[in-house]
Amino acid sequence: MPGPVLDPGILALLGGGLGLILGSFIGLVADRLPRDEDVIFRPSRCDACGTPLKPWHMIPVLSWLIQRGRAADCGAPLSPRLPAVELAAAALGVWAALHHQGEVWPALATALLGWQLLLIALIDAEHFWLPDLLTWPLALTGLAAAALLAPDTLMERGIGVVAGFVILWAVGWLYACLRRRQGLGGGDPFLFGAAGAWVGWMGLPSVLLWGSAAGLSLVLARVLLRRPVTMSDRLPFGTFLAAGIWLVWLYGPLGL
Ligand SMILES: [Zn+2]
Repeated sequence: MPGPVLDPGILALLGGGLGLILGSFIGLVADRLPRDEDVIFRPSRCDACGTPLKPWHMIPVLSWLIQRGRAADCGAPLSPRLPAVELAAAALGVWAALHHQGEVWPALATALLGWQLLLIALIDAEHFWLPDLLTWPLALTGLAAAALLAPDTLMERGIGVVAGFVILWAVGWLYACLRRRQGLGGGDPFLFGAAGAWVGWMGLPSVLLWGSAAGLSLVLARVLLRRPVTMSDRLPFGTFLAAGIWLVWLYGPLGL
């Protein structure tokens, strides 16, 4: 589908700005979803003292900088986590705009993928949890993007959903049989199925390779920092898969 094309710099600005705002929302959802709190209607409050926040205390990144990392009302130190998520979401928006050289619809699809992956990666890293509420929409948006932007890929991406789910489900089942303990989280097959909706079945091995490489580099980094990972440590496999999905979507399967 040929669509509008903007100057890449202007689209990057728009993508970055939208990313900052959505990053704020991503940070909020990542906080509230694991606590089963209302995401839309519950007003934001200070984490430390519970005072309701004013709108100007919630400007992405800027409020944190102006308040020098402290709560506006009580002065309690604020974690740099939220501005970091906001900056990451902005970077993904810029990346998407530049990658597609200003083509609006493909850039929007890519940014939408990136923001969903950021949220999923964050929740899995912090809670070892891949909610169906996030992985299923990731699969649906992948198929919708295929139908709207590249209908000729719809078949391979539909097959990718089934293949991705079945493969990781089977791996998890085998591991559980052999080791008599849960190796993969229950949400991993759904995330891998959603990966198939974006990169197609041919992209799945590369997602696994990137994901394993990301996981291994974390293990290696911890060994170098003398905090080795033991066999009983849990690693957020979904976070590594999310990184793999992003790279394969942008740069294609690894040529082996
Ligand atoms: Zn406070």
